[in-house]
Amino acid sequence: MSTTPSVPSELSDGIPVEVRQRLRTLRTRYGRARFTSPANRLELAANRRRFMLAEIRKEIAELERRAEVIESELRGFGRGVAALAREEIVEYERSFPEAWSPTPVLGFRLWMLNDNKLVGARQVWETPSFVATCAAYPDPDEIPHTDERCGRLGCGVYATKEFDSLLELHVRESDRSYAAGLVAMTGKVVEHEDGYRATQAEVVALALIGDDREVYTTDRELIAEAFGDPMAILGARSAPLRTPVLDHIAAHLSTERGMPWI
Ligand SMILES: [Zn+2]
Repeated sequence: MSTTPSVPSELSDGIPVEVRQRLRTLRTRYGRARFTSPANRLELAANRRRFMLAEIRKEIAELERRAEVIESELRGFGRGVAALAREEIVEYERSFPEAWSPTPVLGFRLWMLNDNKLVGARQVWETPSFVATCAAYPDPDEIPHTDERCGRLGCGVYATKEFDSLLELHVRESDRSYAAGLVAMTGKVVEHEDGYRATQAEVVALALIGDDREVYTTDRELIAEAFGDPMAILGARSAPLRTPVLDHIAAHLSTERGMPWI
C-alpha cells in the first residue's frame, strides 16, 4: 500500500477572495514591503511547513515501498519453506518406509497359551484387537516410534511378513498350547526387513492349538471368545489335533491372507 504524497493548500487559499483582493489593492497603493506584513510572515512559515510535510510524505512513501518489497520477499520465503518441508517429508518417507496405512497390512503373530490367557511377546491380549502403547513416550500420534528413542526394537504391535519366519523363530512341530494368527495392522505401520510394527492390529484368522485339540477359525465372534477364554473354546468348539500341525496352521492362515480384510 502506498500513500500519495500530499500537502495542505496554500494559506492564501484559505483567505476569502474579497479579503485577498482588498489587501492586494492596499499593498499596491501604499507600498508597504510585502515581507514585513504579519500575514505574509505567517504565510511563509506555513509554506516552510508545507515543504517539510511534503518531504516527510515522500519518505513515508519510500518506506512503504521498501516494506512491500520485504513483504513480497517473505511471501517467497514462505513458499520456499513449504516446498522444502514437502521435500523433507519425502526424504523421511524414503529413509523410513512407513505410512499411515489406509488399508490393513497383513502379518503373522504367535501367542502362548498360559494360565488360560493368550500372551504375546510382552503382553496379554484380552481381545483380538490390540492398540500399542509406548511406556517411554506415550504420545499416541507417533506410535510406533521410528527414531529409536524408546529402544532399538521400539514400540508397536509386532508381526512377521511370512508365516515361515514366525516358525523359524518361535515354534516347533512338537510345541503345544499356543495360538498363531493372521493380523490386520492399521494406523502407522512401519515396515522392517522381516516384519512390521503397527499402531494397532486385529486378529482376522486364528489357529488355537491345545494339548490334543485344535480350533481353526476366521469367525470374528469365535476369535473374540478364544481370546477371552481359550480353554473354554478348546473344550467346546474344538476338533482333534491333526498333524503335521505347522503345515495345517500355515495352510489356514495363508488361505485367509488372500481375503480382503477391510
Ligand atoms: Zn515408543
